[in-house]
Amino acid sequence: HAARAEGNVVAWFDAAVTTRLADRLRLAGRIHAAIDNEFQLYFQPIRHASDGSPASLEALLRWPQADGSFIPPSEFIQLCEDTGLILALGRWVIRAAAQAQRRLVEAGWGELSIAVNVSAVQFFNSDLVAEFARAQQDFGLARGALHVELTESSLMRKPAQAMQTMQRLHEQGISVSLDDFGTGYSSMSYLQHLPLDILKIDRSFVADVETNPRNASICRALLSLGHSMGLTIIAEGVETPGQLDWLAAHGCDQVQGYLLGRPAPLEKIIAQLDEVVA
Ligand code: C2E
Ligand code: MG
Ligand code: MG
Ligand code: MG
Repeated sequence: HAARAEGNVVAWFDAAVTTRLADRLRLAGRIHAAIDNEFQLYFQPIRHASDGSPASLEALLRWPQADGSFIPPSEFIQLCEDTGLILALGRWVIRAAAQAQRRLVEAGWGELSIAVNVSAVQFFNSDLVAEFARAQQDFGLARGALHVELTESSLMRKPAQAMQTMQRLHEQGISVSLDDFGTGYSSMSYLQHLPLDILKIDRSFVADVETNPRNASICRALLSLGHSMGLTIIAEGVETPGQLDWLAAHGCDQVQGYLLGRPAPLEKIIAQLDEVVA
């Protein structure tokens, strides 16, 4: 079989790639058609570690399907980045988040900001500052009402441009979190010079922090580093009371995870904000 394979293997490989490419193109077409009318934002509360009171909400994209299921972001964000669709989808997210913040104001929760995930492609290829400014204006939002979450790869790719965009966001009253912190390769000396406000410790380090000495050391180091830079620190993926206790005892400022509330539609979140958790 293998002996006469070379040409065949290549042919088989080409066919597989072509099929995959066709699938991806079909999916991209569906996303393109869906942007303004099928996507939804879910929201997940971020709470103060000390007393469980809400601090902000993170907006998370959901793509509901006709059968009641959802296609998760992990299955479409990358494709959107590869095809440039993320620019239009990202614009929709910013406006939907601004509209949600307006609703929070009406519901008496106006002090909660909404965090919007921004992909690197969007960060470097759209006029992000103008899009946020426009959304803030159209929905009559106060400074500080919206917030941007970036990953390390966004910042490291083009440091000078990243710095400039972050400064302009700040001038617009939009603070910036570094998402999934600890999973990238940022140099500490570089991070120190960025106008950052929040570090979000990636959930891989939080997962077994109270029993795994290695993760505990990493979390302690990230907390100490972040606090020495004057940043607020959020732990992601908090699922158990043991994790929450450890984080609170070690000075983590805010927590997010299934223990504190799962992502849900805004009205459901609003109804839950008053509940005492954990
Ligand atoms: P992320 O920004 O790090 O968001 C946190 C992810 O962790 C979310 O997954 C959330 O549902 C999940 N999560 C929250 N608490 C827990 C927990 O206790 N345990 C576990 N196992 N997971 C938890 P989701 O919603 O599937 O989003 C995945 C990623 O997709 C996000 O990671 C973000 O990078 C990206 N994403 C989501 N919405 C957007 C968006 O509007 N724009 C862009 N560019 N990316 C987005
Ligand atoms: Mg995020
Ligand atoms: Mg994250
Ligand atoms: Mg993450």
